Amino acid sequence: MRKKLIVANWKMNKSVEESLEFLSGIEQNLSGLKYDLVICPPFISLFAMKAKADKLKISLGAQNCFYENSGAYTGEVSPHALADLGARYVILGHSERRNYFHENGKVINKKILKALENNLKVILCVGEDALQRHERTEIEFVINQLKECLHSVNSEDILRITIAYEPVWAIGTGKIVSSKEAQEMASKIKDFISQSYGNFLSSKISILYGGSVSKENYKEFLSLSCIDGILIGGASLDLKNFIDIITH
Ligand code: PEP
Repeated sequence: MRKKLIVANWKMNKSVEESLEFLSGIEQNLSGLKYDLVICPPFISLFAMKAKADKLKISLGAQNCFYENSGAYTGEVSPHALADLGARYVILGHSERRNYFHENGKVINKKILKALENNLKVILCVGEDALQRHERTEIEFVINQLKECLHSVNSEDILRITIAYEPVWAIGTGKIVSSKEAQEMASKIKDFISQSYGNFLSSKISILYGGSVSKENYKEFLSLSCIDGILIGGASLDLKNFIDIITH
């Protein structure tokens, strides 16, 4: 049985020094990992964290990348350069990128294709906001996001994408979906992948839950058979909290 995946999204938090201290803290508290672990620090910490992360068998991920490998794109970060420095994953389609930086499905799709071309694994975030949940259109909304974002992703590449279901109303709010709602969404996502890529690939694709996961509720999500792991924002920033979660 494959291990469940725990992804830490540090967002725009921690200096390089603090990132390294955090890894040292994990090292002192770690005796054999039950989970596959990915830490997504700010870009500036990736290079410095690489050696110790390798030693601890923790994968590193970026929180974003651009859809070209090089060129006159001031301030953007190349997926080729990220892969070259040893990042294995990249988070794409996060609601904060969609909302604050106006990334739409087309842009996210271009980023996904370029990330895959560079052998990065993609953690694709999808999720409805409060209005769609209220109107009960969340499934249609999420499936539509998947259609846009996965446009022309082929069968050879689909398993290099992990889908993170992150209802926007649950991110950083302390609100979570019920197990039943998480299961329902995971099964609709699987149905969509099955229709687009066949049953076998659908049975293999990983689906994470993200949105206010904390040390109080993580067990509930990790125990669901249809959920292959969790994506943690706020609760991954505090060393003690994070260690409690990854070592339970
Ligand atoms: C996230 O940033 O993807 C996230 C799930 O954040 P939080 O855990 O803080 O809700």
